Amino acid sequence: MGNPASRFRSVGVWLALKPSAFAACREADAPAVEHALAKRATLCGIRKEQVTVYRHLFVARGAKQCSECKAKARAADAAASM
Ligand SMILES: [Zn+2]
Repeated sequence: MGNPASRFRSVGVWLALKPSAFAACREADAPAVEHALAKRATLCGIRKEQVTVYRHLFVARGAKQCSECKAKARAADAAASM
């Protein structure tokens, strides 16, 4: 179960009240959608060479964020906060 404080943090991650641990980036060819960048590729599989990386962190909410990156960033952050 965990203590109430850690449970609260997990809920905060799930609701995307704070940025994820991933850098935000956009594909050069399709800059309308923001992705979450891990080491060598986005969470949805686009190679790092194909994206422009931003200096802010990916926030897993909003219509302009890639749905696959949002789901994976939430799962990763939730796992990291346990
Ligand atoms: Zn993505």
